[in-house]
Amino acid sequence: MRVLIAGAGLGGLTAALALLRMGCQVDVYEQAAELREVGAGLQLSANGTHVFYALGVGEALKAHSCETEGKEIRLWNTGETWKLFDLGRNSVERYGYPYFTVYRPDLLEVLADAVRREKPDAIHLGRKCVGFRQDSAAVELQLEDGESVGGDALIGADGVHSRIRQGLFGADQPQFTGVIAWRGIVPMQALPAHMARRIGTNWIGPGGHVVHYPLRSGRLMNFVGALERSDWQVESWSARGTNAELARDFEGWHEDVHALIRNIPAPYKWALMVRPPMQRWSVGRVSLLGDACHSMLPFLAQGAVMAIEDGYVLGRALSEGRGDVPSRLRRYESARRERANRAVEGSASNVQRFHNRALADPREARQYVDREWAGQRVAERYEWLFRYDATSVAI
Ligand SMILES: Cc1cc2nc3c(=O)[nH]c(=O)nc-3n(C[C@H](O)[C@H](O)[C@H](O)COP(=O)(O)OP(=O)(O)OC[C@H]3O[C@@H](n4cnc5c(N)ncnc54)[C@H](O)[C@@H]3O)c2cc1C
Repeated sequence: MRVLIAGAGLGGLTAALALLRMGCQVDVYEQAAELREVGAGLQLSANGTHVFYALGVGEALKAHSCETEGKEIRLWNTGETWKLFDLGRNSVERYGYPYFTVYRPDLLEVLADAVRREKPDAIHLGRKCVGFRQDSAAVELQLEDGESVGGDALIGADGVHSRIRQGLFGADQPQFTGVIAWRGIVPMQALPAHMARRIGTNWIGPGGHVVHYPLRSGRLMNFVGALERSDWQVESWSARGTNAELARDFEGWHEDVHALIRNIPAPYKWALMVRPPMQRWSVGRVSLLGDACHSMLPFLAQGAVMAIEDGYVLGRALSEGRGDVPSRLRRYESARRERANRAVEGSASNVQRFHNRALADPREARQYVDREWAGQRVAERYEWLFRYDATSVAI
C-alpha cells in the first residue's frame, strides 16, 4: 500500500507516522520550503495525547509540553474566578492520558523527527500539490513543478484551503462568523507573579472571550482573544495587528487581560470562518482529513486533536482493513465523520456561551456561570470528546 499525503501539518504528519508504523509506504508533499508551524500554542486533551502515546512519541512530546494543573473561568471586568476542572494528574486518572499544552513548532518537530526515523526521505518539502487524477487501479498526484507521483491512495491533509477538497467537491463558500481571534505568546517572566501559574484560564464577556495557558514548562504564556467584530475578514495565520488595536478591542476588560496584551511582542489576528459540515470526505482512492474536511472554530480546542484522531484511524483503516482501497477509505470516513461534525457544531455553539450578553451585569453573570458551567453540563460538553479511543474504535 503506497499512500500519498498532501500537506505536512499536524494532521498529515500524524497520519504519516501512523501509516508508516502500521507497515504502509508513505510520501508526504508539503508546499512550504521548510517545516514550520506558526508560533502559537495548542491544547491537547487526553483523546489526542492517547494517540501520541500509541505512536511512541508521548514521552518526547511531554518533554516539550506543559502539564496544565487546572482550568478556570474568569469574568471579563471584575475578574471573579470559578474553578472549572482539575487537569494534570486528574486527566491521567480519569481518561488514562495527560492534558498537554504545547508550542506548535515543538509538536511539529517531534512528529517530523519520528516520521524521518521511520523513513528518512518521507517528507518532500517545497512540493505544492495542484491536483490529482484517479482510475480503478491507482491515483496520481500532480505537483506544481509539473511532476506527478503515483500511489494507491491519496489523502488531502492540506488544511482549511485544501486543493484536494476542491478537486473532489469544488470550491466551498466559507461564511465569516463575525468573530476575529487575536493570538500572541507572552514571556512568563513579563507577567505579574499572580498570573504566572500553570493554569488554563478562560475569560468570558459580552461579545468576546480570552483564553490563556502556559507553554514550554511554564516559560511562555499563550494568548488567544476572540472578539465580535465585522470590519476585518482575512483567514490567515500570518496577518499582523498592533498591541494598540488589540488593547482597544478589549477596552474595559480586567487589568490582568491588559497585562497580557501589553506584553505580547507580536500580535496576530485571524478572521474566524465556518464551513457547513461535509456529508462526504472520500471519492474512490482519495480522501481528506483534519481542517481540509472539518475546520472548526477554536472554541472547543479540538481542531488539531480531531486531525490527530483522523490520522490514527486512517492508518488502521488502510492497514488493517479488508477490501479494496475505496472501501477502506469509506470505512475510515464512516468511523470519523459524525464525531468530527459534532465537534464542528460544539465549537460553534460555544460562541453564544462564551460571549453571552448576560455577562454584562456581574450579578446576572454569576447566575449564568453557575448554570452553564455546572459539573453536569461541563461533563456533557467534554466527556464524549476526552473519552474517545482512536486506537480501538470500531472501523
Ligand atoms: C487561534 C486558533 C487556536 C487554536 N487552538 C487549538 C487548540 O488549542 N487545540 C486544537 O486541537 N486545535 C486548535 N486550533 C485548530 C488547529 O489549529 C487546526 O485544526 C489544525 O492546525 C489543523 O491541522 P491540519 O493538519 O488539518 O491543517 P494545517 O495545520 O493547516 O496543515 C496543513 C498543511 O498543508 C500544507 N498545504 C496546504 N496546501 C497545500 C498544497 N496545495 N500542497 C502542499 N501542501 C499544502 C500547509 O502548508 C500546511 O503545512 C486552533 C486554531 C486557531 C485558528
